[in-house]
Amino acid sequence: MIIGGGAAGSTAAQFARKQDRDAEITVLERGEYPEYSRCGMPNVLAGDIPKFEDLVEFSTDWFERNRIRLKLSTETTSVDLSAKKVEFRSPEGNGVERFDSLVFATGASPAPLNIEGLAKEGVFQFRGINDSKALQNWCAKKKRNVLIVGAGLVGLEVADALSKMRHRVTVVEYLDQVLPAMIDPDIAEPVAAMAKKASISIITSSFVRSLAGGSAVEAAEIVSRADSSPSKLKCDTVVLAAGQRPSTDLGVKIGCSMGAKGHIRVNSRCETNQPGVFAVGDCAEYLDFVTGEPLAAGLGTLAVKMGEVAGRNSAGGTATLPKGFINSRVTRLFGMEIAAAGPLYSSLAGKGIACVQSRMKGSTLPPYFPGGKDLTVKLVCTDQGQLLACQIIGEKEAAMRVDIVSAIISAGQGAKELTQLDNAYAPSVAPCVDVLAAAAQGILIKIGRK
Ligand SMILES: Cc1cc2nc3c(=O)[nH]c(=O)nc-3n(C[C@H](O)[C@H](O)[C@H](O)COP(=O)(O)OP(=O)(O)OC[C@H]3O[C@@H](n4cnc5c(N)ncnc54)[C@H](O)[C@@H]3O)c2cc1C
Repeated sequence: MIIGGGAAGSTAAQFARKQDRDAEITVLERGEYPEYSRCGMPNVLAGDIPKFEDLVEFSTDWFERNRIRLKLSTETTSVDLSAKKVEFRSPEGNGVERFDSLVFATGASPAPLNIEGLAKEGVFQFRGINDSKALQNWCAKKKRNVLIVGAGLVGLEVADALSKMRHRVTVVEYLDQVLPAMIDPDIAEPVAAMAKKASISIITSSFVRSLAGGSAVEAAEIVSRADSSPSKLKCDTVVLAAGQRPSTDLGVKIGCSMGAKGHIRVNSRCETNQPGVFAVGDCAEYLDFVTGEPLAAGLGTLAVKMGEVAGRNSAGGTATLPKGFINSRVTRLFGMEIAAAGPLYSSLAGKGIACVQSRMKGSTLPPYFPGGKDLTVKLVCTDQGQLLACQIIGEKEAAMRVDIVSAIISAGQGAKELTQLDNAYAPSVAPCVDVLAAAAQGILIKIGRK
């Protein structure tokens, strides 16, 4: 029995079926859509993908073909562990389903915000297809003055998309930089500069205190954290993108062990502390590969990886996760790829882990070959040269380089191995000495090993 049919839950169903051809598999999903890519929603908004329905990855036909019962518009309302049954509410009425094993894949919902006057026309979330469609329809009516609350991945992807559609966009961020959970301040600076170039105003170190207007939003009061001074911004559209909160009420009620930020804790088999109960995706937390501390990154990639493990194990398998997640992540904003792996340098330094960082500029092609694109690479190592993290920004090929570093980190190797990487080279494809190797050389010099 799987509660939640998003990326994590549907993947769990897929792998439960691979594990056991005869298992009875049921997915209860509160929403009206079968699994779709939330990650692609900003691309629909920007007009890169024709319509939101194109984002469906596991169709209802797929569920039927795989003999998995998918019950849409069906909200699980309670779990009885001793009787091994769940109760649900659906348009056809209330019902009960029995289970042998249970997977929580209930995801997350937007974090509640303490902003006065939120209940107005023109205020949107951006978590699911329905929110996103409502925003798209609203913005199709005329050019809008948009205020986005939060400069994280979702906030900036929506900002980029709406600015491409020629709306006027302002982003307000509470912390002192954009993408605060994804990159360090020095890498965030050029991202903010590119946003400005794309005519997006970014206001950091500030928060939105209230929204003004009648039934529809007309303005926002923005307060600077530095001196508490308020200012007024005219806007007719507000998008709330200031983080998410895991949906774990059912898990809490049956006594699942919870992490400090309210996620369900799991082990490497994606098991909770309750026998026969698994948790996956945005509602769960596992471990950070580098620090060994709890990690709930809220990424589709991790949801899918956990879904595979829990799906197999819930049907009798013996799958395990790696010892932790490297948390590789990427986005494309303002024409640039911004990619990272491992913890932020600022967070490692804050934990007292002795580490060294090095930044290097390079190109995707040798200097003499026309068309190369600039790349900025930042590597973080221990003072012994073991790689811990990496952040790269450039017009293209940032993510694939981050993936190389991610492989080296997970092999427990370091800057030395990166300099020795046996990379492919041809002038029209890739440079002989890659910027990754150059950055690794830089770090070895810094720590006195070269
Ligand atoms: C705009 C946007 C862009 C993103 N871009 C990226 C990206 O580029 N790369 C990346 O790796 N990640 C990205 N993410 C994150 C990624 O989408 C999530 O990590 C992923 O969707 C998590 O999957 P999940 O199945 O855990 O949760 P969800 O997708 O939230 O699915 C959980 C499901 O559970 C259902 N549910 C909850 N409670 C109940 C209940 N009681 N009964 C029945 N059903 C219930 C919900 O309706 C929901 O459908 C993005 C997210 C957003 C919003």
